Amino acid sequence: MMKRFLSIGECMVEMAPAAGGDFRMGFAGDTLNTAWYARRELGNDWDVAYFTAVGDDAISARMVDFFDGSDIKTDLIRRMPGRTVGLYLIQLDNGERSFAYWRSESAARRLADDADILRSGLATADLIYFSGITVAILPPSGRQTLFAAIAEARANGATIAFDPNLRPRLWEDADTMRAAVMDAAAVSDILLPSFEDEAFVFGDRDTKDTARRYSGRGVPIVVVKNGPGEMLALDRGTIRTFKPEPVTSVVDTTAAGDSFNAAFLASYLRSGDLPPALASGANLAARVIGQRGALVDG
Ligand code: AMP
Repeated sequence: MMKRFLSIGECMVEMAPAAGGDFRMGFAGDTLNTAWYARRELGNDWDVAYFTAVGDDAISARMVDFFDGSDIKTDLIRRMPGRTVGLYLIQLDNGERSFAYWRSESAARRLADDADILRSGLATADLIYFSGITVAILPPSGRQTLFAAIAEARANGATIAFDPNLRPRLWEDADTMRAAVMDAAAVSDILLPSFEDEAFVFGDRDTKDTARRYSGRGVPIVVVKNGPGEMLALDRGTIRTFKPEPVTSVVDTTAAGDSFNAAFLASYLRSGDLPPALASGANLAARVIGQRGALVDG
């Protein structure tokens, strides 16, 4: 029986600086990056699908073509008349990257507008993956609809994985962000936070603080990523640590966490064993940060 890895969120048009002052167009977004890497990491017994909403214009069609070309299933993607997709521009200032976003009106913000479509889409999945960015872009009512649909899928047997991917600028205020992220954790089986973000937003002093805070909301498995530092996994009360191999030439850390999540989940879904899954996640993340761009082959 074919199983399904379903990622939920927003993919955007990316305009990245290229030679001669030009910009190169691509498609990226945290949950899409994870789906893209999951497709490479999982075997043929898994489908990888993306749940989002796009518009009915040419650029939306190109985005869906890109998913199709990446062997990411598009049967659950909603096409909303009169709308379009979000866009971001990467600017380079003396080698420092900064980002400008045009996403406030993107179709993806409506992905949870129709509770029935969401519920029936999620019912097709064995593993559901979402992030704090997925939650942040939704209106408050959409967040509740999403949590309810995920809780229902979980009750029916799906495994839920969540990366808080904390981006304060996307949220109306810090209290709302903290409350919504903890609510998302409460419907999840596997939490994949990054310590630096968690320390900044929640004031955690160490990776154990982060793991305990989420396991206190009933999450069975918490994996706290920690950049080049030692990561900590809390598996139903058992603590494990894992230190990634140092990467000597870090070129671009974009999608380090997204790719880690994909390889970690693919391995864990195969073996149900945490140590090889942590190693697999770190291994892929190390390859990704050694090259430029979010989606790197090889
Ligand atoms: P982060 O979200 O920054 O904690 O990074 C996600 C994952 O990428 C980490 O768990 C590591 O496996 C890997 N990673 C990030 N930065 C480095 C680095 N400088 N050296 C080695 N691995 C890294």
